[in-house]
Amino acid sequence: RARTSDELIRAEQPVLAHNYHPLPVVVAHAEGAWVEDVEGRRYLDMLAGYSALNFGHRHPALIEAAHRQLDRLTLTSRAFHNDQLAGFAERLARLTGQDMVLPMNTGAEAVESGIKVARKWAYDVKGVPADRATIVVAADNFHGRTTTIVSFSTDETARSGFGPFTPGFRIVPYNDLAALEAAVDETTAAVLIEPVQGEAGVIVPDDGYLAGVRELTRRAGCLFVADEIQSGLGRTGRTLAVEHEDVVPDLVLLGKALGGGIVPVSAVVGRREVLGVLHPGEHGSTFGGNPLAAAVGTAVVELLETGEFQRRAAELGGVLREGLTDLVGRGVVGFRSRGLWAGVDVDPALGTGREISERLMREGVLAKDTHGSTIRLAPPLTITEAELRSALAVLAGALAV
Ligand code: PLP
Repeated sequence: RARTSDELIRAEQPVLAHNYHPLPVVVAHAEGAWVEDVEGRRYLDMLAGYSALNFGHRHPALIEAAHRQLDRLTLTSRAFHNDQLAGFAERLARLTGQDMVLPMNTGAEAVESGIKVARKWAYDVKGVPADRATIVVAADNFHGRTTTIVSFSTDETARSGFGPFTPGFRIVPYNDLAALEAAVDETTAAVLIEPVQGEAGVIVPDDGYLAGVRELTRRAGCLFVADEIQSGLGRTGRTLAVEHEDVVPDLVLLGKALGGGIVPVSAVVGRREVLGVLHPGEHGSTFGGNPLAAAVGTAVVELLETGEFQRRAAELGGVLREGLTDLVGRGVVGFRSRGLWAGVDVDPALGTGREISERLMREGVLAKDTHGSTIRLAPPLTITEAELRSALAVLAGALAV
């Protein structure tokens, strides 16, 4: 007999590290914007794997690309070339308006790689004295979970107990160009920010901030590194969120949706003068750029080349914004959105974000709280308008209790 959802949740307790507190739903199947649990209950997925599922669950073109590749070649390591990698890099560079690609696997690895490249550039090109390079980051950032990355987190839960930390980072308030200007000096290798802060609650900076960061970093002679791991690849209505201000960073970090929800695929993309600082042996990854990842990544880029997903995110983003505007004062105290991505601050009197998420789950909508009473909404970009409206109606109901 197959185990029930309750049994599977209980079975995890003694054998699985408790580094997550998932909603009590056990997913067994999924397609498009819908997932189905062990008992056959269906839920609309309004989280989409933290934007790793921008194209929905099991998009046919991505599944086909994966199957095709599984039948031919899955791994070579970078000790040899494989026949999928050149095409992936060419198309990803063209899609993002950059020259070169450094393929990795997870988001945190792309961030780590971006940090290493920026430091190497500072020493080799800018002429910063050895081991003196600094990187300026924003408060309330989320860039991943490695020891170096949590070294510049301002979230005590993410940091506490994990020191000693990596030096060389300066933290300034987000969305504050004057503070950034004051922090940048001749040791600065890069400014590393999220164009929209996802985990912080979908914090959208003021118009002009990203262009201001570009202008300031150019003037100061340091790199602008944009972490588009959550904001990129269609989510905000553009291929990259920096495009909202016509900004081209020196390095762009991509992950999540780049693997189509099938395999972990991340990358640093950037200008040749910058990524060109790496030489054989200085950086790498056994799985980075593997042929299965490259085949799926190429299929992801092909989907984005059509512009259809960016367009859907922009159009449905209007529906989302309108629906949330209607809820302000009716259980919602405020929200921020860009494209098909919103951080919704729920009236704390109605329950914590967690309690609201559990209420939504019981009504067939999966969403996850971020901090306190903020709910993040980021459905697959393939969601229909009717499905989106039904999710908004469920949210309205959950807040009317
Ligand atoms: N950077 C940003 C902006 C993210 O949102 C995330 C994950 O949420 C990461 C980096 C880390 O990605 P991963 O969990 O794949 O290591």
